[in-house]
Amino acid sequence: MVKISKLFINKDVKDYELTRSIQTKINLLPIFVDSTDEVYRWVNLDNDPVRHGKEVLYLSANKGQFLKNCPGTKSYMCCGYKILHIGTFCTMDCSYCILQAYFHPPVLQFFVNHNDLESELDRFFELNKTPARIGTGEYTDSLIWERWSNLSEMLVSKFSNQKLSVLELKTKTVLIEKLKNVPHNRKTIIAWSLNTPRVIAQEEKHSAKLKSRLEAAARCESWDYPLAFHFDPLIYYDGCEADYRTVVQQLFATVSPANIVWISLGAFRFMPKLKPIIQKRFPESKAVYGEFVPGLDNKMRYFKPIRMSLYRNMINWIRDAAPNVCVYFCMEDGHIWERCLGFNPDERGGLSQILDERATEVCNLLHCS
Ligand code: SF4
Repeated sequence: MVKISKLFINKDVKDYELTRSIQTKINLLPIFVDSTDEVYRWVNLDNDPVRHGKEVLYLSANKGQFLKNCPGTKSYMCCGYKILHIGTFCTMDCSYCILQAYFHPPVLQFFVNHNDLESELDRFFELNKTPARIGTGEYTDSLIWERWSNLSEMLVSKFSNQKLSVLELKTKTVLIEKLKNVPHNRKTIIAWSLNTPRVIAQEEKHSAKLKSRLEAAARCESWDYPLAFHFDPLIYYDGCEADYRTVVQQLFATVSPANIVWISLGAFRFMPKLKPIIQKRFPESKAVYGEFVPGLDNKMRYFKPIRMSLYRNMINWIRDAAPNVCVYFCMEDGHIWERCLGFNPDERGGLSQILDERATEVCNLLHCS
């Protein structure tokens, strides 16, 4: 993990108990600010503001909504996910991380107004009448905050007391210890992003090794948590097939297919403005050099035959070990679904419904008619 060297605290939250407790754990003299702009100014002083944004921790309040619909895109099938917006950015440093180009500049920011978060969730649970899949790992890694807060424990126990929503905690860390004794009632899915040891070593700086991620998954399974895995991004390189095949084999040698809620597959894609950032920050990375074409969402994607070949291979290896596990594509079109998985989600009520049904089955959600 990147080491935090500066702590900024918004004056609005300086007296919060959580602020004080994080301050004690970080053990840095804080700089109190009136607005985020002051933090941005400091971060922009460095000629690698992205790196600098990982070295600060900015504590503030989320004045907007914590729960948001995942933006998705009209051109590709979206899974109807909800984002629980707990904070932004990350202490790991993946070359391909979209967050580098998403915020201006990106800053490691944690919202400490957890009372508001809890009230919003309570209202949501009260009013919501259909299955919902909610995740904290879209604008940040879900578990990096475990070192400084008990947020996941609070969320896991909150979700355990209702029957229509699942929480997905997505991570590339192994910071799972605090989850061990939390009553979860199978309403929290612990999910890992998986990749080949070569991609992890070359493109996912400061993240946990593959073996450690799988061992952590096995421990969570032993605590009866449902699991999920995301092969996203699948990165093409010479010899990647053999490496991905080995990862799939290791996965199923470690955890039980019946306890896996879903596995997603997503070939590497990037906004064009991410390319110069990767080239500057990770000159040794080969990720952006390949046969890319602009997609309907203006992101660069592998040429379709490359994507289909990656997907077909992955699906065959997964199916060999786990014929019934739920596999889905993140942001792909109907043609890819039909050609690689043999059906179009629209024939089965849509991707959102397929995943809701799977969560209902594996996480024991209330059946809705
Ligand atoms: S772990 Fe996720 S959020 Fe963190 S740097 Fe990597 S891609 Fe970005």
